[in-house]
Amino acid sequence: MDDTQLQAWVEEISLRSFGVPFRHQASFNPRLRTTGGRYFLKSHNIEINPAQLQTYGTDEVEKIIKHELCHYHLHLAGRGYKHRDPEFKALLQKVEGSRYCQTLPGKAQRRTLPYRYKLICVQCGTEYMRKRKVDPARYRCGRCSGVLKLHTIKG
Ligand SMILES: [Zn+2]
Ligand SMILES: [Zn+2]
Repeated sequence: MDDTQLQAWVEEISLRSFGVPFRHQASFNPRLRTTGGRYFLKSHNIEINPAQLQTYGTDEVEKIIKHELCHYHLHLAGRGYKHRDPEFKALLQKVEGSRYCQTLPGKAQRRTLPYRYKLICVQCGTEYMRKRKVDPARYRCGRCSGVLKLHTIKG
């Protein structure tokens, strides 16, 4: 499937499931790594990860397209288009879109790092959690301007 076919597919889904035409551009973007699809607020275009098609097939990609079209139509209508908006959730359920911009298996999502270090003020004892190693000499306590010491959190 190429971009032209994807465009026709998105237009068709838009009319069939939303009753409103899709008037912007849909294309494949192989650089989307972990997300299935993406909707651009500025250009109103939709990008689909071609790897989704290979991994999950057309049924799943159709759900991803519906998900992106929920963002699209609600945004253009000036309604709640974000994941947490009730209007988004309701529309997604109605058209049976995928709940998330689905991630591909085997490609780890960027995880939030755990706090592995803490800077402790030698003067007042205030602790500052850090995810990466920092040079304590470069910082001072925000509360009392005291000297900080770096501790590694084990585990
Ligand atoms: Zn989304
Ligand atoms: Zn302090």
